[in-house]
Amino acid sequence: MEYKKAQPAGGERACVLCKGADPAQVTALDDLIPAGRSRFIAVTKHLVAVPTFGCFVPGYLLIVPRTHVLAFGQLPAAALEETRALVDDLATRLHVIYRLPILAFEYGLASPGLRRIEHAHWHLLPSVADLAGWLGRRLDGQTLGSLADLPADHSYIAVRSQDKILRVYSAGRDGDEARRTHERIRLRRAVAMLDPRIDDANWDWAEHRRADLIAATVTDLATSPATR
Ligand SMILES: [Zn+2]
Repeated sequence: MEYKKAQPAGGERACVLCKGADPAQVTALDDLIPAGRSRFIAVTKHLVAVPTFGCFVPGYLLIVPRTHVLAFGQLPAAALEETRALVDDLATRLHVIYRLPILAFEYGLASPGLRRIEHAHWHLLPSVADLAGWLGRRLDGQTLGSLADLPADHSYIAVRSQDKILRVYSAGRDGDEARRTHERIRLRRAVAMLDPRIDDANWDWAEHRRADLIAATVTDLATSPATR
């Protein structure tokens, strides 16, 4: 498999999402999964979907590449096509289960050393939060025809809004600019603020893991597994 950027030498061994995306590994998330269930909502050739720590609404999932990359824009075209299909499939399933519009987003930080979890991940959750509108007042953005058009060479924020329109916002041409943007804009904090169902104080996943909603998510989604 060819990737657009070199993978970190040995860095992925300590990466929590490399471990979390590996079906052979038992992780801290498994401690929160109801007996007899799997943490995996979906497993495909290049991707997995799992509930997230900091599950501030039921149905909150992460889509994670099975190979260590900083941002989805660094994945090859076949993996991005698979991502598009999985985002579409899971958004449909979540909508059927929760009867709410579905928001998806990624903070594509392409520089290492800027955040706690460096392994790329798309967030997918039932939410009415107008994240695209909020970002549009703060960053330069444009609509994207396809996930295959995500930037491979700089940091970005990508949002698939509730109307299924994909937009990308520039988050820094180099590491310094990306750091300044990341200090100013935290996407989970913005979503918690914009969605009236979510307590603003619960935005930080490390402080508010929400084991109850992780278990509920796995149970809600267990009826129609999307493994393929
Ligand atoms: Zn990783």
